[in-house]
Amino acid sequence: MISAVYPGSFDPMTLGHLDVIRRASKMFDHLTVSVLDNKAKNALFSVEERVSILEEATRELPNVEVDSFNGLLIDYARQKDIHISVRGLRAITDFEYELQIAQTNRKLSDGKLDTVFLTTSLEYAYLSSSSVKEIASFHGDISQCVPAFVAKLVYEKYGRIDE
Ligand code: ADP
Repeated sequence: MISAVYPGSFDPMTLGHLDVIRRASKMFDHLTVSVLDNKAKNALFSVEERVSILEEATRELPNVEVDSFNGLLIDYARQKDIHISVRGLRAITDFEYELQIAQTNRKLSDGKLDTVFLTTSLEYAYLSSSSVKEIASFHGDISQCVPAFVAKLVYEKYGRIDE
């Protein structure tokens, strides 16, 4: 059985993340989407909220599990006996950063954790959690960026109650 982990901040999960999750879930027998509990980042949603959003969004994907972790990804992956990390590449600007993380993880894990990159579907290539938050903070339209139930939760954070 081949298992993989898709780690990230998911603050909040976007349609781009969901696209990567759907595609990765077809490639591996089991996919753990894991929210990084990064205290250094000032997150809009708590880890519990982010987990619950991901659970709701992946409800119809039976081989997808949602979890959270803190500390190093290689330690978490070792505990779960997972040897593949999935990451998304939107544009060349993601590449340098992602390459560095992937190389570091492979080195630190003595080759036990490798990274598989999925390129973004073009319609989501421009999407990022930060831009979703910025647009929503000015009460702009994020309906093309996140599922409807997530848009509602994001607007609630910024004091806009949508009908
Ligand atoms: P991090 O803070 O770890 O970068 P993110 O939640 O922003 O976490 O992203 C997690 C992963 O999802 C990263 O590999 C990122 O490149 C990828 N990703 C983010 N947005 C998209 C998108 N629109 N399409 C595909 N992949 C994406």
